[in-house]
Amino acid sequence: MKPTQPPARLFGDHFLRQLNSEERAVVDRVRGLTAEVLGPSAAEVAQTDTFAWDTFRLLAREGIVGTAFPREYGGSDARQVLRIRIIEELGRVCSTSASIITGTDLSSRAIVAGAAAEMKDRLLPRLCTGELQAAFALTEPEAGSDVRGLQTRIRRQGGRYVVNGRKKFITRGTTSDWFVTVGRAEEDPSMFIAVLVPRDAAGFTISPEVGKLGWYGVPISSLEFRDVEVPHGHLLGAEGEGFDLAQDALLRARIGHAAMALGRAIGAVEIAATYMSDRRLFGKALGEHQGPQWMLADMVTKIEATRALVALAAEKYDAKDADVAIFASMAKLQATDLCMAVVTDALQLTGGRGYLQDFPLQRFFRDAKLNQIGEGSSEVHKTVIGRDVMRRARDADRNPCLRPGSLVEY
Ligand SMILES: Cc1cc2nc3c(=O)[nH]c(=O)nc-3n(C[C@H](O)[C@H](O)[C@H](O)COP(=O)(O)OP(=O)(O)OC[C@H]3O[C@@H](n4cnc5c(N)ncnc54)[C@H](O)[C@@H]3O)c2cc1C
Repeated sequence: MKPTQPPARLFGDHFLRQLNSEERAVVDRVRGLTAEVLGPSAAEVAQTDTFAWDTFRLLAREGIVGTAFPREYGGSDARQVLRIRIIEELGRVCSTSASIITGTDLSSRAIVAGAAAEMKDRLLPRLCTGELQAAFALTEPEAGSDVRGLQTRIRRQGGRYVVNGRKKFITRGTTSDWFVTVGRAEEDPSMFIAVLVPRDAAGFTISPEVGKLGWYGVPISSLEFRDVEVPHGHLLGAEGEGFDLAQDALLRARIGHAAMALGRAIGAVEIAATYMSDRRLFGKALGEHQGPQWMLADMVTKIEATRALVALAAEKYDAKDADVAIFASMAKLQATDLCMAVVTDALQLTGGRGYLQDFPLQRFFRDAKLNQIGEGSSEVHKTVIGRDVMRRARDADRNPCLRPGSLVEY
């Protein structure tokens, strides 16, 4: 008798080659969760923009939140090549779950990388199990894409730091216990400082949740710091390392955003292709018409090419390659812009049905937009990549078909 094969997925498992057997078992477990719980409940979770506690607790209990934390604190310190597979699987059905995992990187990475030993012992094991939550407070009214415009001031006063300023768009503001807060040193504004602020600190105000278009289940708030004092032990890294710690957290979160966007694009194609098989018009299935087939062909080809780029960025992260930041920018730019285009086309292919509330694509459509804005917008990444190309072009080997000297003269 022939062995029973599991149903073939529309998108192949070729990238699982990057993983060992233990890592593949984690992906299998995540697939089980998406099939049994996260997929079926995704629409309900995305009904309201309040924090998705059940999803968060499930992902913490299953050790998925812990993939972002070192083993000595109870985590599994997963390689990025595994994390992108986890996030892609989650993004395929439920942006809320995927953003809980990328958001954990964003909010906890600076604690892992820069907190004093005592704070790590105190916070990391409980962040890992989901008993505690952290938020990442960088963006301000005057500083979004232009991070160097930060106005928040942090001054050293005796054995304490005093924080004054405002932050906006802060994910998990209402549910976090600790806030990674980045500002400039009052004495020397060229220097960036990051400190940990507890939610009950005197002078610290968290606004009510602010309504948004999508990404339900992970609400945002504004923050205000008025002479908020924290002990010296709450410093992250050294004074002056705040900017680098923020960039380090954003780097991981960018690769995660790329994987999440890819997952959503994959999900959108799966949904559109299923509709195209079911829907008959002009005497045959929608999927038998050449025009829609070509649209699918474009989507699938670009998705597979982008998966390769995102996998490369993850590999470079794990190998600590010097150019990982540029590859993370390329991966994020490519995957998030592609996702928006794919979700738009998938919705078009599903016609009026796709536009209805009970159909997942309206949710995918609203969620896709944020991936192009957060963790460095597409325009910011284009600027970073373009500058890097021109910087390298100055010293790069000249194309051998060129003659020496200026190309401007003829
Ligand atoms: C749902 C949500 C969750 C978020 N969570 C967090 C969080 O947890 N922590 C946190 O710190 N921040 C968070 N953010 C903030 C997010 O990172 C910023 O929104 C993002 O960095 C863009 O900044 P901005 O919104 O101020 O846009 P702006 O900086 O005002 O930019 C506006 C537009 O102009 C474009 N632009 C900017 N500069 C240039 C240029 N030189 N050339 C061409 N185009 C340009 C941008 O790409 C963008 O499209 C969140 C935002 C949202 C919406």
